[in-house]
Amino acid sequence: MRCIFCSIASGEIASKKLYEDAEIVAFEDVNPQAPIHVLVVPKQHIPALSDVPPEDSALLGRLLLVADQLAHRLLIAESGYRVVINTGVHAGQTVGHLHVHLLGGRAMQWPPG
Ligand code: 5GP
Ligand code: ZN
Repeated sequence: MRCIFCSIASGEIASKKLYEDAEIVAFEDVNPQAPIHVLVVPKQHIPALSDVPPEDSALLGRLLLVADQLAHRLLIAESGYRVVINTGVHAGQTVGHLHVHLLGGRAMQWPPG
């Protein structure tokens, strides 16, 4: 299975990449919902959080750690930031490849819509 985020991860489709290692890539969201809006994505095609097998628990942890590293680098760690993993229809997931949204640079509301 290949999708738009697989193509971005491999570099076939251009993106503004902010981070890359053997397992993970992070790039700017094309339709930002905050001054900082980055997607942290495993290179491996995993459709959603509910599809992550137990043996990939370390990868899940690393996605969150990379999000926090980027928050520090992008100077939103002190003011605060939000990470979001939309999963399935009710959450509004539109791309079927696991991704962590890193949002910051403005005050946000709770609960989310
Ligand atoms: P979801 O709604 O699935 O949680 O989030 C998908 C996100 O991917 C959306 O915020 C959308 O703007 C972003 N997105 C969709 N297609 C592309 C693309 O081709 N490039 C980039 N950089 N972001 C994309
Ligand atoms: Zn994919």
